[in-house]
Amino acid sequence: MFDRSRRRLLTRRRKPDLQRMPWVVDEETFTDTCTRCNKCINACETQIIAKGDGGFPAVDFQRGECTFCYRCADACPEPLFQSKSEQPWPLVAQVNEGCLAQQNIECRSCGDACEVMAIRFRLQVGGVARPELDTSTCTGCGGCVSVCPASAITMVSHNNEEN
Ligand code: SF4
Ligand code: SF4
Ligand code: SF4
Repeated sequence: MFDRSRRRLLTRRRKPDLQRMPWVVDEETFTDTCTRCNKCINACETQIIAKGDGGFPAVDFQRGECTFCYRCADACPEPLFQSKSEQPWPLVAQVNEGCLAQQNIECRSCGDACEVMAIRFRLQVGGVARPELDTSTCTGCGGCVSVCPASAITMVSHNNEEN
């Protein structure tokens, strides 16, 4: 049995950019209940779930995108995931300062990777086209994160503007 106070300690220590799986309940319930059995990690079809701090599973968008297949939720033996009819998570992509195009270096990697075309490139007078994100179209899949050669894309909460 994993000590609850130790769980909380590990929770507090987690990195701020740590992202749980889609549909997961609140963080405190999660770390109190997750047995770290790895079933979600093994079930993920894009293998983006890995052991995070304390051995608890977390999503790493550097590994790829979430397809919202719900396999992690189906595989979990604990009551840790909401119904598939709920919003999976409030995430959207955010293009940060390191973006090459914003420094007049031609790059459209994120736009090419986005299947729903939430990233469009707008031509600039006297410069290269720059990405513009349509947050209403972005599904929060994270597929643009790992393809950015400048690591300039992060996933942020639509509600709080930060993850
Ligand atoms: S919904 Fe599917 S792709 Fe997304 S984290 Fe869960 S298992 Fe992986
Ligand atoms: S399947 Fe559920 S209990 Fe097992 S590690 Fe994943 S979230 Fe935790
Ligand atoms: S997170 Fe997914 S849907 Fe959103 S901009 Fe990136 S690739 Fe497109």
